[in-house]
Parts: sequence; C-alpha cells; structure tokens
Amino acid sequence: MKVITVGNQKGGVAKTTTTMNLGVALQELGKKVLLIDLDPQASLSVYLNHNISDKYTIDKLIDEFINNEIQNIEKYVKTSENDKIDYIPSKARLSALEKEMDTRYSREFILKEILDNEYFERYDYILIDTCPSLNILLTNALTSSTDVLIPVQSQFFTMDSLNLMLDTISKIKKYVNPNLNILGILPTMVDNTNMSKEVIEYLKENYSNKLLNTHISRLIEASESTAFKISLVKMNKKLGKQYINLAEEILKKPIS
Ligand code: ADP
Ligand code: MG
Repeated sequence: MKVITVGNQKGGVAKTTTTMNLGVALQELGKKVLLIDLDPQASLSVYLNHNISDKYTIDKLIDEFINNEIQNIEKYVKTSENDKIDYIPSKARLSALEKEMDTRYSREFILKEILDNEYFERYDYILIDTCPSLNILLTNALTSSTDVLIPVQSQFFTMDSLNLMLDTISKIKKYVNPNLNILGILPTMVDNTNMSKEVIEYLKENYSNKLLNTHISRLIEASESTAFKISLVKMNKKLGKQYINLAEEILKKPIS
C-alpha cells in the first residue's frame, strides 16, 4: 500500500485538483484508491459533492482515536456519487482539533496509527490532500506517508514555497519518517508564457531527478470540473488525459 501526501505550503497550486484527479486516474487504471481530505477548508470534500450534514468526518475519526473509542472505521469512508471513489471527508472543525492533537504525546503519529488499522489494507493507494501551511495536520500527513507529490504552479514566485516544502520534507525524514520518498515535482498550470517556460527550465536545471515527465496545462476546464463536482478524468477532458498520464508515470516508477 502506498500513502501519498499531495503537499505544498502554498495555496492555489492545484493540490486538491491533483488529489482528486490522480486518485480517479489510478482507479481507472484498476487500483483501489482512498482519498483523505485533511484540509480544514474542505475543498476536496466539496469537489466530491460531499453531503455536509454527514458528521463522520476525519476530525471525528481523529478525535475518537485520541479518546480510544473508534467503533468502526467503515462509517467514515464514503463513496462519491459521480466518480465512485472512496474518501474520508473533512470539515472546518479540523482546525479546532489541531489544538487537541498538539497536546498529545507522539502527536505526529496519530494519522499513521489510524492508517495502520487493517481496514485500510484493501487499498492500493491512499492520497491525502493537505492544507497550505505547516501545521500538525501536514506533519501527520507526511509522517503517515510512503511518498509525497509536490504540485508546483509554474510561476516564478512559487520557488520559495517549493524550497520550504523540501525543507519540511527533509526535517520529517530526519526526525520521524526516514523512508519518506519524494515521488516527484509536478508542474501545474503550465502555459505558453515565458514565465511558465522559465520555471520549467529552472526545475529541470535544479531538480531534474525529481521533476516528473508529466506536466499539467493551464486550462479553464479545471474550474468547470470543480463546479460540476465531477473529475476531469470522468469528464474526459484534456486535463483528465494528463492526469491519466501522471498515474501511468507513477505506476511505472520503481518501488522505493
Ligand atoms: P490548492 O488545493 O493547491 O489550493 P486547487 O486544486 O484548489 O489548489 O486549485 C486552485 C484553483 O486553480 C482552483 O480554482 C482550480 O480550479 C484551479 N486550477 C487547478 N488546476 C488548474 C489547471 N490545470 N488549469 C487551470 N486552473 C486550474
Ligand atoms: Mg486545496
């Protein structure tokens, strides 16, 4: 089982879009996939058309775990209506939970311990969508992951956030999860502007061994997909094909 954090400490770089569409693409290629929304903004849950009156969200699962009383994990796992993909939703209360987690012994390992439950063995891939700041939630995601995928918006000013993310990853590797593998840097919102070309060149020169071959174009269909609450893959869009290519590239990567 692979657990992949989709992370970048910057917002608006296509983390949520990538979590959803890479997940659906892996599923199209025959893998069993679970998505976890670990962002208090819950944009992945909205994209999945989650019914917000449902109270079994990731914060409650964590809360139950901390208090030693998880009854059954099944009730937290939903299947989306449109894409038929399994997920655990988030909701805004997650940020209040950060405080509760912060005071717990071994607080970095809470999500890892939850995912160690045999229930999750049925999945080939678990993809975790994260929030754009370094907090206990992102730390938990990275601690419980085998891999991390870093979407980078192809604009110059995003380089600082990439370096920040790489710095966070090396700290996580040093202190809590030595086997964490950088699956790759994914350029997103690539277009024909010089800025976009320069960013790709910069990534090739500086991170060639981590840069993925698949690049995601900047296309308006991304926001249409979010609005319709159907993945780009299911909508048969150009970006959907690119995310299928990404899934194929990831599946071909040697097991680390
Ligand atoms: P994050 O989760 O990193 O904040 P999102 O996935 O929510 O980023 O994307 C931010 C915004 O950019 C959304 O409005 C989304 O629809 C849009 N977007 C994502 N990917 C693309 C793309 N390839 N082309 C154009 N717009 C995109
Ligand atoms: Mg997001």
